[in-house]
Amino acid sequence: MQNTNVAYDSKVEGEIIVTQADAVINWIRKHSVWPMPMGLACCAIELMAAGASRFDISRFGMEVMRFSPRQADCMIVSGTVTYKMAEVIRRIYEQMAEPKWVVAMGACASTGGMYRSYATLQGVDRIIPVDVYVSGCPPRPEALLDAMIKLQDKIGRERSVKNLTARNAKPAKADNLALAGAGMES
Ligand code: SF4
Repeated sequence: MQNTNVAYDSKVEGEIIVTQADAVINWIRKHSVWPMPMGLACCAIELMAAGASRFDISRFGMEVMRFSPRQADCMIVSGTVTYKMAEVIRRIYEQMAEPKWVVAMGACASTGGMYRSYATLQGVDRIIPVDVYVSGCPPRPEALLDAMIKLQDKIGRERSVKNLTARNAKPAKADNLALAGAGMES
């Protein structure tokens, strides 16, 4: 049966809704994602198009793009990640408050794409944890919207209350990722 998180009968309960804390927290979070646009190359043009009127990312409650990591909770990495930028991306990711998510948009951000070179990181997941990957070179704006809907589904399944207590006890996921593992040691 679908939608078992909320049980509400106005005749019986009046103004009271019985639900789980996770359901409420996740519902709020997934409908108020504030993306951090990390535009690095051509894919960023498609990211910009997703915000324009034809595709209109605001239909999903995600139009509040923020260029400050302190006001964003979803980094959309769109474009080629060079080693020069990798350190910056990771620093900005670490400045974002928990809970936070990452979308790797396009072949370059996901795997390095066609750039199998000394200058290109072979996937942004070598330095930060990625929640959703978007294929394509470049992916169309619809593909990004599809990824954001998938991210919403993922947020909806999170154990938010449990994660809250676990997060206080343990360092964030990204803290465990070593730049050395990505070949970034100097
Ligand atoms: S995946 Fe293609 S379109 Fe996107 S940044 Fe790489 S080369 Fe450009």
